[in-house]
Amino acid sequence: MSHKLSLGIDLGGTAIKAVVIDESGNILNSLQVDTPPGRAVNDVTQAIVDLINSLYRDRPGIVGVGLGSPGLVDEGRKIIRFSPNFPGWQNVPLWKLIKEQVSLPLALENDVNCFALAEHHWGAGRTFKHLLGLAVGTGVGGAVILNDQLYRGSSGAAGELGHVSVDLWGPKCPCGNFGCVERYLGVQWFIEAAREALDDDQISAPDQVSSLAAQGNQNAIAFLENRGEILGSACVSLIHAFDPEAIIIGGGIAQSGEPFFRGIKRAIQERAYPVLADHVQVRSAKLGTSAGAIGAAIIGFETGSLL
Ligand SMILES: [Zn+2]
Repeated sequence: MSHKLSLGIDLGGTAIKAVVIDESGNILNSLQVDTPPGRAVNDVTQAIVDLINSLYRDRPGIVGVGLGSPGLVDEGRKIIRFSPNFPGWQNVPLWKLIKEQVSLPLALENDVNCFALAEHHWGAGRTFKHLLGLAVGTGVGGAVILNDQLYRGSSGAAGELGHVSVDLWGPKCPCGNFGCVERYLGVQWFIEAAREALDDDQISAPDQVSSLAAQGNQNAIAFLENRGEILGSACVSLIHAFDPEAIIIGGGIAQSGEPFFRGIKRAIQERAYPVLADHVQVRSAKLGTSAGAIGAAIIGFETGSLL
């Protein structure tokens, strides 16, 4: 029995979640605070430092801290280049700001990479060496795990899979490209398209569409299948690029149920090389909303050189 523990923190636009885990992935502590209103760098730093100090007092066996953040995280420089959920954050040296107040080993990582690592270690991706993670929520985030290793690319930014274009002439995405899959699946665009497809201005959240589908509403079922096909056609490009064993799909919109996954699988069956389409498995993520913090804790163990 081991007493080595790791602390993982998931920095989100509305909440900062923290978990303490042991080397088997058991969650020993779980804590959540609201992200400071205004999201100023100093306030967010302080909230994270307070969380670390409070959990370390409780669990002196913590050997490392991992911090998952949305946006482009430069792993080498330990800087958040920019983050869509934190307007005004440009090249924020978050690692240094926290390390000035905390003596534990600390590592910074993209939040969707953390989600995928957690699913790979202890969730839906446990039995696979080569997998892609997609987190479909506010935006569409991605992560690439090859040979059991997170692939970070040459500058730490690999895995921006939400910006795979599925239509050269499609709607403009804030990233500058056109027809990005995020432009159809990101929550604001999902809702906008659902209102039009269902002719219902009252729709304000994706789960309203899945409830209607569960009640047998044919328009809602067709809409979810259509969104699944759009994501599935992005998966086809990714399958051809990476030949993964599995694609693990999480995030709020992944809770949309069976019609959504049916659409994804249909697009893959109809469009990918048959040998690859037959091989790849599409699975729903298992670890729920704690996956990001659990994955950050895996990074925390790595930075303490223990996993
Ligand atoms: Zn884009």
